[in-house]
Amino acid sequence: MPMLALYIHIPFCLRKCNYCDFFSVTTLNDWEERYVDSLCKSISNKELFDQNKEPIYKLDGKPIIDTIYVGGGTPSLLSEKSFDRIFQVLYENFSFDSNIESTLEVNPATVDKEKLLFLRGYFNRLSVGCQSFRDIELSSLGRLHTSEEAIETVETAHKVGFENISIDLMFKIPFQTLDTFKNTLKITQDLPVNHISAYELTFEENTPFWENMTLLKEQINSESDFDKCLGDLTFFKRYEVSNYAKDGYESKHNLNYWHNGEYFGFGAGAVGYIDCVRYKYICDLEKYCDNNELEYIESLGPKGIAFENLMLGLRMTEGFPVGKVTNYLNPIEGEIFLEKVNSLKDYVILENGILRATQRGMDVLNSTILELYTWE
Ligand code: SF4
Repeated sequence: MPMLALYIHIPFCLRKCNYCDFFSVTTLNDWEERYVDSLCKSISNKELFDQNKEPIYKLDGKPIIDTIYVGGGTPSLLSEKSFDRIFQVLYENFSFDSNIESTLEVNPATVDKEKLLFLRGYFNRLSVGCQSFRDIELSSLGRLHTSEEAIETVETAHKVGFENISIDLMFKIPFQTLDTFKNTLKITQDLPVNHISAYELTFEENTPFWENMTLLKEQINSESDFDKCLGDLTFFKRYEVSNYAKDGYESKHNLNYWHNGEYFGFGAGAVGYIDCVRYKYICDLEKYCDNNELEYIESLGPKGIAFENLMLGLRMTEGFPVGKVTNYLNPIEGEIFLEKVNSLKDYVILENGILRATQRGMDVLNSTILELYTWE
């Protein structure tokens, strides 16, 4: 049976990090109750309509959910009462698979042992935003925690019963050298962590980093192959372009995205994808809280589905069945696509009906995908 996932966005942080352009604000205290009210309303709303008032979905009974992911923002800032309210409404409207993967994003130093014990009642997986285990790197990013606090959060989470812990790391950040990144990985290796998401710092518009890009770029070691060090981790295997896991600890929730599976999204800024329709709630607290307003809603046609399948499927090291592209194209387009595949042998491999990126293709994934999917 295909998987069904559910994402909840909690757009509140204590302070904005210097590089971050995610939708989040720093006014949790003013908004928490009203936001959770609206979130519960949108979760229990059994129908979602497009602009022509055609239903995208109408939930009959209780759909069975395989994964839940509560992200943000910093969702670990929510009070226990808010978590109780959200899960009560989830239980009322959805059935949970007995092997459900339920993940919460946590920022170091926003939870203590008592809060983690409470959260263990609802979640069996944590994703901890460590980013680095070197203080000067953390402060350049504008993170509010020290490396020691990040280590303590991971260790305490493990002690209270979280066996499935992922951490986020960043590379090519100011003041980072290949050696300091290797040291961060060494510390990671000694922690009870079984999943790593590792991203290169990018400069996004409307962030302090964007404003100071020229100066900051002088402090960034852009020559070194930081991501190659990740390949040297013991027991961790790269299974997606930015994700590494110990055997059996790949993120089910994210795999569902990369398989282009269906998921509900709830909360301001959250995206959902049901029945080939993608929708996004508005990134505006006032409008979301007033009437759960949508920012957009779009129906994907065959070509759109083919492109999504290609773009997401090639991210996984194991690749995906090529029919997930060709079956959505007409025969001529399908032939052109397969010719492209053939001509890009250094970048993609087609074997037994499975298309996957080579190491070289992974290094330049976006341009590989565009090259494969350009008809003119
Ligand atoms: S804690 Fe996360 S979501 Fe919040 S500002 Fe920092 S990076 Fe962005």
